[in-house]
Amino acid sequence: MATEEIEVNDGRAKGLNFVEEEVRSDLAAGKNGGRLSTRFPPEPNGYLHIGHAKAICMDFGVAEKFGGTCNLRFDDTNPVKEDVEYVDSIREDIHWLGFDWGDREYYASDYFPQLFDLAVRLIKEGKAYVDDQSSEEIAKQKGTPTTPGIESPFRNRSVEENLDLFMRMNAGEFDEGSRVLRAKIDMTSPNMHFRDPIMYRIIKTPHHRTGTTWKVYPMYDFAHGQSDYFEGVTHSICTLEFVVHRPLYEYFVKELADESYCPRQIEFNRLNLTYTVMSKRKLLQLVKEGLVAGWDDPRMPTISGMRRRGYTPASIRNFIDTIGYTKYEALNSVSLLEHAVRDDLNRIATRVMAVLNPLKVVITNYPEDKVETVTMENNPEDPESGVHEMPFSREIFIEHDDFMENPPKKFFRLAPGSEVRLKGAYIIKCEDVVKDSDGNIVELHCTYDPETLSGMPGATRKVKGTLHWVSAKHAVDAEVRLYDRLFEVENPAAETERDFREMLNPESLRVINHAKLEPFIVANMERGAKFQFQRVGYFTPDYDSTPEHPVFNRTIALKDTWEKVQKKG
Ligand code: ATP
Ligand code: MG
Repeated sequence: MATEEIEVNDGRAKGLNFVEEEVRSDLAAGKNGGRLSTRFPPEPNGYLHIGHAKAICMDFGVAEKFGGTCNLRFDDTNPVKEDVEYVDSIREDIHWLGFDWGDREYYASDYFPQLFDLAVRLIKEGKAYVDDQSSEEIAKQKGTPTTPGIESPFRNRSVEENLDLFMRMNAGEFDEGSRVLRAKIDMTSPNMHFRDPIMYRIIKTPHHRTGTTWKVYPMYDFAHGQSDYFEGVTHSICTLEFVVHRPLYEYFVKELADESYCPRQIEFNRLNLTYTVMSKRKLLQLVKEGLVAGWDDPRMPTISGMRRRGYTPASIRNFIDTIGYTKYEALNSVSLLEHAVRDDLNRIATRVMAVLNPLKVVITNYPEDKVETVTMENNPEDPESGVHEMPFSREIFIEHDDFMENPPKKFFRLAPGSEVRLKGAYIIKCEDVVKDSDGNIVELHCTYDPETLSGMPGATRKVKGTLHWVSAKHAVDAEVRLYDRLFEVENPAAETERDFREMLNPESLRVINHAKLEPFIVANMERGAKFQFQRVGYFTPDYDSTPEHPVFNRTIALKDTWEKVQKKG
């Protein structure tokens, strides 16, 4: 949508969040010659998570809305933690969410030469110095917000000595941690970030793009604003923890900018989710320690985990729209995300039948070799979705939980002597319960009413329960993975007394080895397919699935079972 098309009312545009409102008014005021350029700046030190999706929707979304562009810029300033594997995954995830950066893929490392030149200039102007102290010593001298810091004994070195030392730092003459380059600003500033912040540190690990060219690497604060400037970014949108960095951002950018153009930083609240941790450091720990099966484990809050689990891009974007953007930190309920997932899957998932915990039913009055096909609607929410056929025969499977030998009063499923309808097929009546020598129920003997199929006189006969089922001899065995929330504690990050790994939900994965699927599912289980196993939940084929060994992930149950648990308790 172009700017002109946005409906404006009393000078304020309708339906815009506060960042979009700022962007709109900058454009209206003719700032930056009416140009809009944003960027999404991930550090390639891990996979993207749902929090990043919120930033992506903002950065790309505002550019789309106002006819601007959004760059993808990898903030690759720390070779120790970064890797091309992460670069590739980040690209894939952004595309999957539905956004594109065209040919505007940039790297902070592209700007290392200009940043180095700027550092040299600042040294020459007496605005930067080499400090021989360790970072621990430097931290001790920082002071507190109410007490001033202590000036470094190296603060007043000559320009010549500083230049010589900085060049030798970059030539690899000194050990990591032995020296840093600091900005000479103000050790008494009420803003702690102004107390001679570190600009460069020595790192000898080769960089995934620049190899061994550099031995000094810029800190975030010395790289980010300038990178924005070099790229012509007009609005640098980030999260609230950067509010306190903004004066320093502006301080360094002013060393480059003139009046004609200067990028502007605007901050919004991070996404925090209940029953989830969002720190990349913790997610990396889960992966490294094998507590999950990888970054794309379907229980992870990563984009790749959610994709593998069967979440859709639309559901993630709708969720982010629902929670919106504010200037206040909040904890959002994961139920809202799950609601968005159900909503979208309800719209698109193909209805099928699968039995997770099978109990065999023999229909004793049905001919032994007879097979009928019944017709099933693919999706009542989508008139275009059509129908598919399902075989019916003398032996079927139903869900074990759908039978009770001694049922309570309001049990409307199958019990001795009671009747139920098999969805899309006949009404059956339970005549006999077959048990093994330990007393376990192994089989039911039922009879069917042949007049109750669709189109027959008894088709409309009412019974209280309707069950899902599959024909035993046509059913295909599958492994089914039932996922639940990864943490059992509402806000793991707030529990500072306990290690976050102690709060993992031991029930977050349950595997069922011999679920029974109707054959249609197996014939249509391409990657990314979305199914509703009727009465059971939403499912998608896992990446491990093969035609010989189908594997399905439960994306989500049909109802929010946690909500019930909480209300009860
Ligand atoms: P860390 O976990 O180490 O803090 P990070 O998640 O901030 O790292 P980056 O790669 O630096 O990782 O993030 C890229 C962008 O995504 C930044 O602009 C950051 O503000 C934004 N972002 C990160 N986490 C969230 C979140 N939970 N909600 C919204 N935006 C986020
Ligand atoms: Mg960060």
